[in-house]
Amino acid sequence: EKVLWNDQLTTRDEVKIGIEDRGYQFGDGIYEVIKVYGGDVFTATEHIDRFYSSAEKIAMALPYTKDVLHHLIHQLIEENELENGIVYLQATRGDSPRNHPYPNPAVEAVLTGYTRETKRPLAELEAGVPVILIEDIRWLRCDIKSLNLLGNVMAKQQAVEKGCFEAVQHRGDVITEGSSSNAFGIKDGTLYTHPTTNLILNGITRQVILDCCKEIGLPVVEEAFTVEQAKQMDEFFISSTGIEVMPVIKLDDHVVGNGTPGEWTRKLQHAFEAKLPRKLYV
Ligand code: PMP
Repeated sequence: EKVLWNDQLTTRDEVKIGIEDRGYQFGDGIYEVIKVYGGDVFTATEHIDRFYSSAEKIAMALPYTKDVLHHLIHQLIEENELENGIVYLQATRGDSPRNHPYPNPAVEAVLTGYTRETKRPLAELEAGVPVILIEDIRWLRCDIKSLNLLGNVMAKQQAVEKGCFEAVQHRGDVITEGSSSNAFGIKDGTLYTHPTTNLILNGITRQVILDCCKEIGLPVVEEAFTVEQAKQMDEFFISSTGIEVMPVIKLDDHVVGNGTPGEWTRKLQHAFEAKLPRKLYV
């Protein structure tokens, strides 16, 4: 199994990361998770664009062009003969004596990547999942796909401890997003989701879903909605690269709709599946 280290494909035990790597010490870096279906990379361009955009937002120079990165990702998938799974990609600001300001002069970013086989969460996609509602305690630049994930990690842990699949966060009254997903409600034939501000990550899956809404004739309102409004939605779901269109059947103790995935959510699942690179996957 090969991994990516800067612009090299190598083995995991060859990789040397410094103990003063800024990703390790400060979470000073960015990442992407990209899905592979039947050997094909899904929405690779969108993920790579977001990777560069996250880097730009933290004034970090990536030493490779987007084309080189595309190529390296494809090489990694081929080398590892990955059929169904993910590519994880991250870049840190590099290894430099510990000091808060960005190193000046800059040191080279450290890029790492690997593949992992995963399965689609088919049982959950069919039955739907319960989630908890939790205060969003994260910082105010959630639009950056940053390695700083402690707020997200703490939220997800709360969900797990309550036997739930995800923690859907709210800042005050306003629903923002899940700890590792975007959140959507459907009421009277309209889909509601938080607008792409600094308070959420603009999920690639979210963008694909908004395209699916157009295709199936589901009107979209990108406006913040409250916890109370969330509980009045007919349908609710969350999305991410790994979980696709995941129906939510419980928000804390509140049962969504009749407690099973709603009709629009099912239509969105089908429209989403129709976009996957190959029909035959597990
Ligand atoms: N929000 C957060 C906080 C996330 O971590 C993720 C998953 N990376 C998402 C939303 C969904 O993004 P995507 O659809 O690009 O996986």
